Amino acid sequence: MKLWIPDRVYFEPTARDSEVGKRVLQFCKENSIPILQTTSHNQVRDLPGKDEKAKYAAAKKTLIVGTKRSLKLEVCKPSAHYQFSLMTNCPGSCEYCYLFSTQGQKPYVRIYVNLDDMFDTIENYIEKRLPNATMFEAASTGDPLAVEHITGTLKDTIEHFGSLQKGRLRVVTKYSNVDNILKANHKGHTRFRFSINTNYINSNFEHNVAPLEERFKAADDISRAGYPLGFIIAPIMMHDNWKEEYKNLFEQLYESIPHKRNGLITFELIQHRFTMSAKNVIEQRFPNTKLEMNPENRAKKWGKYGKTKYIYKKEEANEIKEYIEKLIKKHFVNSHIQYFT
Ligand code: SF4
Repeated sequence: MKLWIPDRVYFEPTARDSEVGKRVLQFCKENSIPILQTTSHNQVRDLPGKDEKAKYAAAKKTLIVGTKRSLKLEVCKPSAHYQFSLMTNCPGSCEYCYLFSTQGQKPYVRIYVNLDDMFDTIENYIEKRLPNATMFEAASTGDPLAVEHITGTLKDTIEHFGSLQKGRLRVVTKYSNVDNILKANHKGHTRFRFSINTNYINSNFEHNVAPLEERFKAADDISRAGYPLGFIIAPIMMHDNWKEEYKNLFEQLYESIPHKRNGLITFELIQHRFTMSAKNVIEQRFPNTKLEMNPENRAKKWGKYGKTKYIYKKEEANEIKEYIEKLIKKHFVNSHIQYFT
């Protein structure tokens, strides 16, 4: 797929002089991208566009380069102990995106330049859990691979974790531009997971992300480069013909990763869920969406930040879990299913 090129890049004043800031400036020069200034990466108010839809489209083509000030790490269950952010948001536009609940009003892409501060913080958290290893998720607030060609910070982070005895990194992506990452000195400390789904979900709800075939190819490359490999199947939906489509997905995956299919692969299974605030934003941004979001058809689950999530009812959730687990066990005999949620 074509790499993302923003239409405009805003810098916080102090971000320009950092190493990452300089890389982004260079990228802007090479691609003739207008450079603008903002006092805070949390506030960019003068984006073009006469209505909501146009402003959203403009925001998805806007990059903001800033300093991450709050360095307190949040717990990240069930995938890791903690999460940290190299960036917030994503150039992609998946209609079901989990970020609509928290980032719905600020869809522009933000990246952070103060890697050393983040690395210090990470080491402090590792210290607290010694002698146990501590796992960190780098993709809870966005997709860092989507901007890696601009920032290079995912490679820096992977190599930093390579140097940590008791730190482990987890990354998940819907992108495929892994070339820069293949060369990283990862020491096996980063588990790279690809988010994949049925053709129906990919073609109806996932926009401006890598095609599935490219993600499969990138997964094969990543595993050949010696990274621990995983897949996140999310969001799992009971759409028309879902059983047949998930069967095809696992058959296709099996054919695509010959190097690793008998090895230890992890799977994380996440059923579709939505919050009412996300539903409102999604219906505004994608008025013709085919996403099924009728709260009456769902069960309630108490979520983070006091938001109620709507998940499948118990019998349906069990049916999904059993069916998908059966498919995984059939194709990937040495795999490990980490959770279904
Ligand atoms: Fe959201 Fe992930 Fe899609 Fe980006 S790739 S829009 S973070 S679901």
